[in-house]
Order: sequence, then C-alpha cells, then structure tokens
Amino acid sequence: MNSTDIQLDIEKVETSRIDQVDFSNLQFGKQYADHMMYCDYIDGEWQTPKIVPYGPMEFEPSAKVFHYGQAVFEGMKAFKDDDGQIWLFRPEQNFERINKSSKRMAIPEFPKEHFFASLQALLKLDQDWVKKGQGNSLYIRPFVIATENGVSASESDRYRFMIIGCPAQAYYNKPIKVIFAQDYSRAADGGVGFAKAAGNYGAQFYPTKLAKEKGLDQIIWTDASSHEYLEEAGTMNIFFRIGDKLLTAPTNDRILDGVTRKSIIQLAKDNDVEVIVDKVSVKYIVEAARKGELKEIFGAGTAATVVRVEGFEYDGEYFDLPAIDKPYGTFFKSSLQDIQYNRVEDPHGWTVKAF
Ligand SMILES: *Cc1c(COP(=O)(O)O)cnc(C)c1O
Repeated sequence: MNSTDIQLDIEKVETSRIDQVDFSNLQFGKQYADHMMYCDYIDGEWQTPKIVPYGPMEFEPSAKVFHYGQAVFEGMKAFKDDDGQIWLFRPEQNFERINKSSKRMAIPEFPKEHFFASLQALLKLDQDWVKKGQGNSLYIRPFVIATENGVSASESDRYRFMIIGCPAQAYYNKPIKVIFAQDYSRAADGGVGFAKAAGNYGAQFYPTKLAKEKGLDQIIWTDASSHEYLEEAGTMNIFFRIGDKLLTAPTNDRILDGVTRKSIIQLAKDNDVEVIVDKVSVKYIVEAARKGELKEIFGAGTAATVVRVEGFEYDGEYFDLPAIDKPYGTFFKSSLQDIQYNRVEDPHGWTVKAF
C-alpha cells in the first residue's frame, strides 16, 4: 500500500495488552488489538484520522446511529506469512464496498488515502497481534456510524469512521446445519441487502434464534417475494455443488457481493470447475438432494473462509449431506488460504503487503 502522504494523529499505548491474551484459545471478537482508528466527519469534511489506544468512546444518547441505524461496516483480514510479512487480501474491494454501502445509507464516502494510510499505520503498530500459522489472522472491522446529536428523523450531518482489529483463529470449524427460509426475509427488492448495513444483521437475529431453537445453525435466505430462490446465508454467500458443477446466485440488490464468493468463482475457473451463476431454485436443490445429485453446500465469507453445510431443513423435512471424498469446499478453502498466507503464486494479484 502506498499512502505515506496522509497525516495521521497517533497516540500509542503506554503498555501493550498483548501479554494478557491467550492466542491459542481465542474467542472471536472478544479481544481487541492495542490501537484503533477513528476519523470524524464535521462540517462536510473528513478530519485528520486519529490512532489511539483501543477503548470506550463517549456519545450522547441522542446520537442518530442509536435511533435510525445509519451504520455500515466491513470485514477483512490481515495474515502473516512464515517470514513475518503481513498481507491483506483484496483490500481495495473492502474499501470500495464500504463506500458503496455508505452511499446507500446516505453516509458520505470515505477518502481512499485516509483508509489505506490508517490501515497501514494500525497494522504497523499492532503487527505482533497478527500471528503466524494456519487459521490465524487479525480480523479488521472498519465501520461508520452517524454521530450527530438529535432524534429528528433525517440523515446525520456528523459521522465517525473507525477501524478496530481482533485476533482470530479459525472461525467456524465445524460443519453447520441450515434451514431454507420460508417465512422471514433478510432483504427486499430496492432495499439495502447488497450493503453491509448494520440493520441487515439486527433483523436476522430473531429468525436465526428461532432456527437455533430447532437445532439449526443458520438460515439460507430466499427471495422475499416468492421464497422460491436461494440467495445467501446472511453472513456468507452460498454455493451448491450438483454433480461436478458449482451453482451460486447472481448478486443483485438483495445479495451482498462477497469478496470470498468472487474469489472462489475465479479459482473455480482457474481449476476448470464449471460455475453456473444463476438463480438457484429451492425445488431444484431439494430434488437434487433426493436424487443424490446434491454433493455439497458451502458458505463463503471472510470470517470463516469456507464452511461446510452438513444438512438442511426445508418444509419440515431434514436432508443430510453425507461427507464426500475431496470436497470442493475444502479445496477452495485451502487454495484461498495458500494465497492469503503467501504460500503459493498469486496470479491475480490479490494479496497486498500491509506495510
Ligand atoms: C460480509 C458478508 C458476506 C461475505 O462477504 P465477504 O466479502 O466474502 O466477507 C456475505 N453476505 C453478507 C450479508 C455479508 O455481510
């Protein structure tokens, strides 16, 4: 990354908290690296980004984010290779996407130089928080919230952009059971499903809680109007393998355009695996499962990379997906990780040195 021209205000921690962290036993999202970045939008301008010790911040109860949910976020990871070099995976994609999300939520776009200069400085300061080794990473969470005080229902005139980082090990390591949505919806036509808007998550917790009470882990959301087409998992995009072909839904205004999804589509092409990007009908998948042609379902997202689905429920019936030999999911996960940890050639130029 080349962002040396931007001025940042940096206040370093006096003593690192790193010795208090058991890196062999991390709970995702419970521990945060020493520093964080914040940058305020005031009077129509993004101010100088500040890097400060991670810690609580003060907001008035009337800050608009608490009332109208004007908030977007990103999720990305930094990886350390065996030589100690830190890499980011397709960070431009995350940068572009947070601004796409912001635009939809009437949040001003964040300058590219501010973003990359801050990220670079943060990773330099907190480089020891990125651990070597398979499955280890620093999960990076950029986000923006509306900070104007006042409960009038209109877009805010102040915002705060922040970046925090938490050390992560393999996120979900066990296969999951899912249910195909028949009642609730995650996103509607013309809505904000394509954006990483905070409210998309808030709205899926209740239906997901109901699914968990039935012993299922996650919901595969279907299109809101007919519930006939499978769209995504709500934190991950989703792939289906029928015979030797991969099938995934095209992105639209209800589906998040995942970096992991598009990388897997590219890797599939590189490896002569046929990928069909087309509407995935529930009927087709259920029939394929009955006929034994449905070989795999897997989710794809930054947090978990790839997660195997071991079975799904639809219309009160549970379908088991028996483990198979040489699953695509495992292949794509290790291919992606090999690139992310700089263990193989990176023909598409996806990895970027953090500093
Ligand atoms: C973040 C996210 C994904 C996965 O996107 P990646 O860029 O691969 O991490 C998928 N669906 C939703 C709704 C998401 O928020």
